[in-house]
Amino acid sequence: MIMIPTIEKKSLSEIKAFQEQKLLEVLEYVNKNSPFYKRLFAKKNIPINSIKTIEDLQLLPVTTKEDLQKYNDDFLCIPVNKIIDYSTTSGTLGKPVTFWLSDKDLDRLAYNEAISFDCAGIKKGDIVQLMTTIDRRFMAGLAYFLGLRKMKVGVIRVGAGIPELQWDSILKYKPTYLITVPSFLLKLIEYAELNNIDYNNCGIKGAVCIGESIRDQDFSMTILSKKITDKWNIKLFSTYASTEMSTAFTECEHAIGGHHHPELIIVEVLDKNNSPVKNGESGELTVTTLGVEAMPLIRFKTGDIVQLHTNPCSCGRNTLRVGPVIGRKQQMIKYKGTTLYPPAMNDMLNDFDNIESHIIIVSTNDLGTDEILIRIAVKQESEDLLYKIKDHFRAKLRVTPKIEFTSKEELHSLIYNPMSRKPIHFFDKRVDLI
Ligand SMILES: [Zn+2]
Repeated sequence: MIMIPTIEKKSLSEIKAFQEQKLLEVLEYVNKNSPFYKRLFAKKNIPINSIKTIEDLQLLPVTTKEDLQKYNDDFLCIPVNKIIDYSTTSGTLGKPVTFWLSDKDLDRLAYNEAISFDCAGIKKGDIVQLMTTIDRRFMAGLAYFLGLRKMKVGVIRVGAGIPELQWDSILKYKPTYLITVPSFLLKLIEYAELNNIDYNNCGIKGAVCIGESIRDQDFSMTILSKKITDKWNIKLFSTYASTEMSTAFTECEHAIGGHHHPELIIVEVLDKNNSPVKNGESGELTVTTLGVEAMPLIRFKTGDIVQLHTNPCSCGRNTLRVGPVIGRKQQMIKYKGTTLYPPAMNDMLNDFDNIESHIIIVSTNDLGTDEILIRIAVKQESEDLLYKIKDHFRAKLRVTPKIEFTSKEELHSLIYNPMSRKPIHFFDKRVDLI
């Protein structure tokens, strides 16, 4: 198969011209078929034919998660009898939003995953064990399956959790790649060690990691990914995607950010005033989807704070790359003069073998500012451990939050909420002061 699309090897100016052509098409399409955008453009008196370049996008208003929640049905551009799949967002931050997909959208999704997995080195002849949910209206699980099928790569759909079942399947079917939440790899290692499974000789070459950071901003490994690869000699590849984007940004073997696929999405990084940030600065990833039939989005603010990288990559793709997600904009914490995001705190807590489980709770104190409480379940409680954790926080993040011990059982019931597809480690109890 292909797999690096021709456009991704072109120069940055050629890629820009290509995207501008696609932009005209999508604007014309939504202006004709999307009740939401038709109304928005008319209300704001925007002649869409005045938008010709990527820079002109700034003349258009942004689309927010609240718009999607409030006017969900108005984003649908096709008749109901053309809908094939009904997906929903996870709803970790507010009400879930429905994403409808047409037959063509499923083909686009398959193409997107195929070129993304190819980035991560998966080729025909590989076998992939899928350790994520494929049902429960989860778009990503379905997309992985469709992408691998398109690549003619074998898929073992084990689903999330259950280390014993995962290992049975690995030993029996000999997959070469895993798709998983990276922290689950630690659980697999633990199970293998307890059951004398020679995990370094089981044939796994790599894992495509979703949902948790495996790299810091300088692309060095996070504590989590170091812990995994110190024991298990496999390559980790980060993939970043969301239901709203319907597009993935996946690392190649050089591991310097997730590659952008210009035929599928236009990216902007905006500051809090919705203006593009200066080169190299971080801001909110804002996307315009290309080639989506049922529910295209124009300038959708993802809520993810990222930094773009444009220096060339040795893999031959000239497309820009999205750095590791620094955090979600809504989860930004202002604590004693420092700006913090949960991923950095999660990674710090992963450093302590003694900590078995943790949650982070942020609330508003009497002064109207953010307060952080970290609740941990540990193997052995001690004052010394508390001191060490606080010290570590002070050294790495320049702040020391409140930390308290609790039981593993109590945390478990909070982290694994049956209503959520993902484990929850962050609880936001802040009062909205705006
Ligand atoms: Zn590359």
